[in-house]
Amino acid sequence: MYDFDSILGEEQLKLKMKAVANNGKHSHAYLIVGEKRSGKTTLSNCFAKALQCESEGNKPCGQCLSCLQMDAGNHPDVIHLEHAKEETIGIDDIREGLNDDVVIKPYRSDKKVYIIDDAQNMTIKAQNALLKTIEEPPSYAVIIMNATSAEALLPTILSRVVLLPVKPVPDAVIKRYLMRNKEVPDYRADVCVAFARGNLGRAVDLVSDAEFDESKEKAVTLLKEIADRDYGDLYVKAVELGKDKKGAELTGLMDFIRIWYRDALVYKTTGRESGLIFREEIQYIKKVSKLIAYEGFGEIFDALKKAQLMLRSNVNPETVADLLLIAVRDCEKES
Ligand SMILES: [Zn+2]
Repeated sequence: MYDFDSILGEEQLKLKMKAVANNGKHSHAYLIVGEKRSGKTTLSNCFAKALQCESEGNKPCGQCLSCLQMDAGNHPDVIHLEHAKEETIGIDDIREGLNDDVVIKPYRSDKKVYIIDDAQNMTIKAQNALLKTIEEPPSYAVIIMNATSAEALLPTILSRVVLLPVKPVPDAVIKRYLMRNKEVPDYRADVCVAFARGNLGRAVDLVSDAEFDESKEKAVTLLKEIADRDYGDLYVKAVELGKDKKGAELTGLMDFIRIWYRDALVYKTTGRESGLIFREEIQYIKKVSKLIAYEGFGEIFDALKKAQLMLRSNVNPETVADLLLIAVRDCEKES
């Protein structure tokens, strides 16, 4: 069932979508932009449901035939674009699924809504094909695209869509949801929220992700004893991290490093334990907060930034990991 109320946060976006549906003045193309698992699919389906709702009152009513068909996943005038290959949307997908289909009038509604998930995966040729429809759409057509970033789309497309950016959900809202709806204990909820960075879907995934727990244990073990490790040890660790050529493993570790030292810095500044993410490891956090001077923290955060830039510039993860671990170790050692 598609229900705006089931979506946490995104109040402005939801209001805007409802207003468009209720005043009947819709554009022909929308682009919902947000990272993976940020709720774009649910938002686009709720939007389509509201646009198609037959009620005179507050749309979507959830009771008319159109709303029921939408919830059952068989609305004849809401089309989810299919594509032959999983990772790309090609020119034929757009031609067959959209351009050839859009000329056929709606089945029973006065609108025909198309939803294109993962629009960032459209090839340039596919985007040019799509442009034909977006430039001169039939009056009844509405195209809703979801994408993880707008950068992958041609400027000619972007200039013809209404951009609907998904905003990060506030940490407190995610935490309350995890504790109430998923029965996650306080400490664990804080850890998941810290790593989800405003993405509710990711937070929910982390709650039951055994791999995440394992990575956390490994990271904590490494950070507790990093000052005692020599360069050889750290190189072995870097080689291990470098096995994941895409750098996801290292990126995960970098999140733990960032939050570990952020906790230590917060403790150094405030002397308070509340609000710390790694409060189960408070003895170590206290130790680190005393050991490292303020400049040292600055150096660690700089090293993290540098590592992120290098990964983005495709430097291999093993090299990045080695440089980062040495920098962090030296900060603790020299303090
Ligand atoms: Zn309805």
